[in-house]
Amino acid sequence: MWNGTVDRRPALIARCHGAGDVAAALRYAVAEGLPVSVRGGGHNVAGTAVADGALLIDLSPMRAVTVDAAAGLAVAEGGCLLGDLDAATTPYGLACPAGVVSHTGLGGLALGGGYGWLARKWGLTCDHLEAAEVVLADGSIVEVTGHRHPELLWALRGGGGNFGVVTRFTLRLRPVGPVYLRRAVYPVAQAGPVLAAYQEFAEAQGADLHAVGTLRCAAANAWVPAELDGRPALYLSTAWFGDPAYGHTVTEALHGAVAPAGAAEEVLPYAALQALGDTSEPHGHRYYTKSCYLTGMSAAADELAAATTEITAPLSTIDFEFLRGAIAEDGGHSAFPNRDAPYICTASAHWTDAADDDRNAAWSRRTIGRLDSWRHHGVYVNYQEDSGNSRAMDTYGGPRYRQLAEVKRKYDPHNLFRGNQNIRPSE
Ligand code: FAD
Repeated sequence: MWNGTVDRRPALIARCHGAGDVAAALRYAVAEGLPVSVRGGGHNVAGTAVADGALLIDLSPMRAVTVDAAAGLAVAEGGCLLGDLDAATTPYGLACPAGVVSHTGLGGLALGGGYGWLARKWGLTCDHLEAAEVVLADGSIVEVTGHRHPELLWALRGGGGNFGVVTRFTLRLRPVGPVYLRRAVYPVAQAGPVLAAYQEFAEAQGADLHAVGTLRCAAANAWVPAELDGRPALYLSTAWFGDPAYGHTVTEALHGAVAPAGAAEEVLPYAALQALGDTSEPHGHRYYTKSCYLTGMSAAADELAAATTEITAPLSTIDFEFLRGAIAEDGGHSAFPNRDAPYICTASAHWTDAADDDRNAAWSRRTIGRLDSWRHHGVYVNYQEDSGNSRAMDTYGGPRYRQLAEVKRKYDPHNLFRGNQNIRPSE
């Protein structure tokens, strides 16, 4: 598992190579009365892919991707990592919008939603799910499309791993080319004016632009000055997906608003952008994540700056991004909730020594607690540290939750797939 704090012992691990293996493993688990957990990429912060005494359906041998460039579709097996998908599609100048760290699993990310660099322009990963091969709780294998099991397709787009094991994802692809990336770093004392400029800029931009920020202890490098090393700082990054030649001009209103302590700009291939975060959150370190949606960033600047100065482990971060754009388009095609949320903010505690667990988790919880005055309703299912039914209700809200429960009753009436942010069939 990616998160080193997850220490659980399954009774059995079924390393599956296809839908037939998954079906056999599920039938065995039901016959033996074993609980089941499903592992895609193993990145869930709450470690939902593994449970004590359960049969773990391990999809990690299933990472093949095929691309039909003419149709603009990719078919990815259920254990793919995001990097597998990008490696297969980007040689055609195509990509499926997905998350920002390429060793994250496609399975959990796509089923829970999938924010990332391209989401404002094209929508979430789950919005690109055109069809799926799914192994249901009774071991039957179904092809899910807009015509066959349409209610299940709706639920798979955001409802998480509650309905079956997805062994193949059919994903719509989008054109991608080189990306203009501009970065800047500021001492945290400038959080007020910088976040005011960020909010004004982000909310005025078209969907070709995605602007994200991080508050953390700075690490000096070629473009981050030595005097900031180890000190609380605010980083901004903007990615421009239009003509790279215009990138500098387009981003000047933000990057020129407050003089940064350090800055960098480059044009890079989309796959390289996707891999930029790969080394900063390695497997086996200890993590605790709390997240919320916010109505704005500027008003919360003082609290965010204070939380940054109180960071209890130097690798911890507070990440935020402006959402909206195509994310906000809800045509009723998906179970994904809270599309109207303007910002998402995540306090990710990151450390290595088990003795520091409580202190760092407390910092993450405290940080999100500080932001209560600017909370937007709902939470993102894939950033939830605590699992269980009450959290699923927080995520989806009552009416959508009840719709999901109806689908659950049809496809998993005995709640075999419950090691997640659980939708109960009985609600
Ligand atoms: P796993 O831990 O393997 O699985 C989590 C759950 O997903 C399982 O319990 C199961 O219920 C379900 N599941 C997984 N695969 C399948 C399948 N094939 N069929 C049925 N159920 C399945 N999220 C974003 O939206 N955007 C980001 O940019 C982003 N970046 C991240 C970066 C890092 C470093 C990490 C750790 C997480 C990030 N996330 C991001 C959150 C990510 O979406 C979740 O952690 C997600 O659960 C990861 O999926 P996984 O398959 O790796 O998880």
